[in-house]
Amino acid sequence: MSETETTTEVADPKVLLAHHLKKLKLPTILAEYDKQARLCAEQGIDHPRYLLRLAELELIERERKMVERRIRAAKFPAPKSLDSFDFKAIPTLNKLLVLELARCAFVARRENIIALGPSGTGKTHVATGLGLAACQKGMRVGFVTAAGLVNQLSEARDEKRLLRLQTSLAKLELLIIDELGYVPLSQIGAEMLFEVISQRYERGSTIVTSNLPFEEWTSVFGSERLTGALLDRLTHHVHILEMNADSYRLKQSKARKGKRIG
Ligand code: ADP
Ligand code: MG
Repeated sequence: MSETETTTEVADPKVLLAHHLKKLKLPTILAEYDKQARLCAEQGIDHPRYLLRLAELELIERERKMVERRIRAAKFPAPKSLDSFDFKAIPTLNKLLVLELARCAFVARRENIIALGPSGTGKTHVATGLGLAACQKGMRVGFVTAAGLVNQLSEARDEKRLLRLQTSLAKLELLIIDELGYVPLSQIGAEMLFEVISQRYERGSTIVTSNLPFEEWTSVFGSERLTGALLDRLTHHVHILEMNADSYRLKQSKARKGKRIG
């Protein structure tokens, strides 16, 4: 008998069925069909509904794995979601706007987000939360620090694979560039970073976090002309998150110390 021949008279249909389901890449149906058949028989569920149940289980599992893959590929520093974010700690941040952004329509519209504020105010946490939300919607996300990205770009340039890296960055629906401003960039570094942001303009979303107000971005990029051109692209369709508060980290450690003394 040929492999694909259908028959009801196979000695052990389960062996062949397992083979076919593997070939069709339906591992969940393979794992579940026996158990579900028993459950459906007990509950008097008919064949179309039995099949529907199996198809649904396969789809759910496939989606779960895809989201897992997206999260792994994004390389978040820590998988912090907005659920654990205390909006009361930072009154300057528009909670409704952040929750709306977490629905990720801004990614579909290829809009950008810039989160500005001093260290420890939750910029990385919020950016990660938004990135996780996008992964959960099946979107391709990447998380990098500005310095890390410039390093990656420099290495790629030295190894003559800059174009490949640029192409893979351009494929991301959402790129998060964290910590712009902590280290000044070399001229070539600034130019390469500009190129990445430029290539994403109206093609993909970018989230940038920075401890520096826009007026001081020139000190990072070195050139006023480059900074102007970059801000022009980045802020054309942008949501600004003002994150001005005392450092959450500092507050927490003070509160802990206070408890210990008191
Ligand atoms: P930033 O990137 O602005 O320097 P982070 O996002 O790294 O700040 O925040 C510092 C630490 O404090 C992280 O562990 C973060 O999860 C936590 N944190 C900051 N703000 C909040 C907040 N409003 N609610 C809960 N955790 C917060
Ligand atoms: Mg940070």
